[in-house]
Amino acid sequence: MSYLEHEDHKTHRVGWLRAAVMGANDGIVSTASLIIGVAAAGSSQDAIIVAGVAGLVAGALSMAAGEYVSVSSQADTELADLKIEAVALEAYPEQEKAQLAEIYENRGLTPELAKMVADQLMQHNALDAHARDEIGISVNVNAQPLQAALTSALTFTVGAALPLLLAWFAPLDTLIYWVGFFCIALLAIMGAIAAYAGGASLFKGAFRVGFWGALAMALTAVVGQVFEVTV
Ligand SMILES: [Zn+2]
Repeated sequence: MSYLEHEDHKTHRVGWLRAAVMGANDGIVSTASLIIGVAAAGSSQDAIIVAGVAGLVAGALSMAAGEYVSVSSQADTELADLKIEAVALEAYPEQEKAQLAEIYENRGLTPELAKMVADQLMQHNALDAHARDEIGISVNVNAQPLQAALTSALTFTVGAALPLLLAWFAPLDTLIYWVGFFCIALLAIMGAIAAYAGGASLFKGAFRVGFWGALAMALTAVVGQVFEVTV
């Protein structure tokens, strides 16, 4: 085992975790804010719960749709790019090799070595070499829009469940504090976990997520208050 294997790089595993944490975060923040806003307007517990459930369903569906569109259009773009590249490789193999060599030269290789690297990589897999080093994508486009959509909807729902359960069981007169306190605490814990997984500072991660969540809830509480006074 070389010493390099002891280096624990985090970048490769932040992707899926980031998506899951973002879904749950959105679920907590948007549902908690909605519940707090409606509660601050002096609504009944039934009305608060209806608003919370409607917010959960709307949010989960909109997350799923957004993720589906974004992942599938990204995959379409990458596939189109790969097709263009494959045609170019077929039609202008020498120019393509020179182009790849130039990329390696710009990264610091000598012209001779750059040509050798381009030559060998293209013999191994020309499309893969160009996709990776020229376009910056992978040949194995394995984007799964449906899976991404389901993951977002599911993680959003899991996140939204906490404020909704609190709205269900907490006494009406202190409901805002229950929802606010536990949701901000959970956001901070999740922020810390995400920061830990990404190798970043725990406190920074917790504070960042907790702060924006608290701000969203405070703002909707103000909106609810305004409505209670004026309506
Ligand atoms: Zn190329």
